[in-house]
Amino acid sequence: MSQRPIILSLTNMAESGLVMLSDAGELRMASSLKPEVLYREIADADALVIRTAGTIDGALMDAAPRLRVIGRHGVGYDQVDVPAATVRGIQVVYTPGANTEAVAAHTIAFMIGLSKHFPQQMASLLAGRYNDRTKYVGRDLTGRTLGIIGFGRIGKRVGEIARVAFGMNVLYTDIVAPPPEAEKKAGARRVELDELLMASEYVTLHVPLDESTRRLIDRAALSRMRPDAALINTCRGPVVDEQAVAEALDVHRLWGYAADVYDVEPPPADHPLIGRPDVMLTPHSAAQTVESLRNMAEGIAEDVVGVLNGKAPRNPVNDPAEVAAIRRRLGK
Ligand code: NAD
Repeated sequence: MSQRPIILSLTNMAESGLVMLSDAGELRMASSLKPEVLYREIADADALVIRTAGTIDGALMDAAPRLRVIGRHGVGYDQVDVPAATVRGIQVVYTPGANTEAVAAHTIAFMIGLSKHFPQQMASLLAGRYNDRTKYVGRDLTGRTLGIIGFGRIGKRVGEIARVAFGMNVLYTDIVAPPPEAEKKAGARRVELDELLMASEYVTLHVPLDESTRRLIDRAALSRMRPDAALINTCRGPVVDEQAVAEALDVHRLWGYAADVYDVEPPPADHPLIGRPDVMLTPHSAAQTVESLRNMAEGIAEDVVGVLNGKAPRNPVNDPAEVAAIRRRLGK
């Protein structure tokens, strides 16, 4: 049997990350995400690298008795059962910050695109209705109010761009108070969620998916928003009730909706929002820039290789000291 650690990857990634992983061990690309294949291919893996696809639960971890580290190429790690990893002595690592700029820019692009009716204008041009250009009157961002839900890395950057580039009035809500300089950079004021929903012409979501954020924007939350508000979701689909958004758009209770993420991914053919002319949607591609892909690949490779070599991870999800103690107790 090979002495080099076996690194199973469920995802392709930027070349530089692949090189780092192959230099450190035997890199194998999973041939399928089908459970019957995955359970077989993970059996002798020391490390697992994932992107957004795949549910990484305790049963899968049990199929990999040698597994020491799970590396999430990206930021949200809601598909990994982190407590299950901890009790098995498996370190989970991720790449916070690697795609902040890309997702913040995507959010701003959505704000501009909705404000200038890009979806309708582009569809009209394609359909040969050139003169429809005067039918859709947009609006400027300058001086309008932006409400940011989740003032973390991406939320802060969106606030800063909105403030500096467009002179927007920035409100935010978060369960944690940020350092004062972060508020200052975005000229942002912390408010309760209800006040944010009632005051904002743009509401943008930058929270992780967990039990505190699932369906945070439901029918009741939508009913508190201004009818001239646009809602933007680049974080995780289940944070929003998509059916309720479609209904709010139907009765003009909402001015526009843009999203990069869906309740179920890939979204089903009869998705309530895909195909509507008044929404702007992308296929979970906000982080797909050269820079962000390189940052994620190198960041995850560095931490996965580090953990395999007994080093402390730079970006742990679960507590490395607790994981190490459990490993010792389990005799791993
Ligand atoms: P982050 O951890 O820096 O920020 C998240 C913020 O949300 C934190 O400040 C946290 O305190 C706050 N928060 C948590 N629960 C909350 C609640 N119930 N109410 C209000 N605030 C709450 O993360 P980030 O790097 O800014 O990324 C945010 C999310 O964006 C990620 O968790 C991920 O799901 C998503 N994301 C999507 C893409 C994409 O490709 N579309 C890429 C990167 C990240």
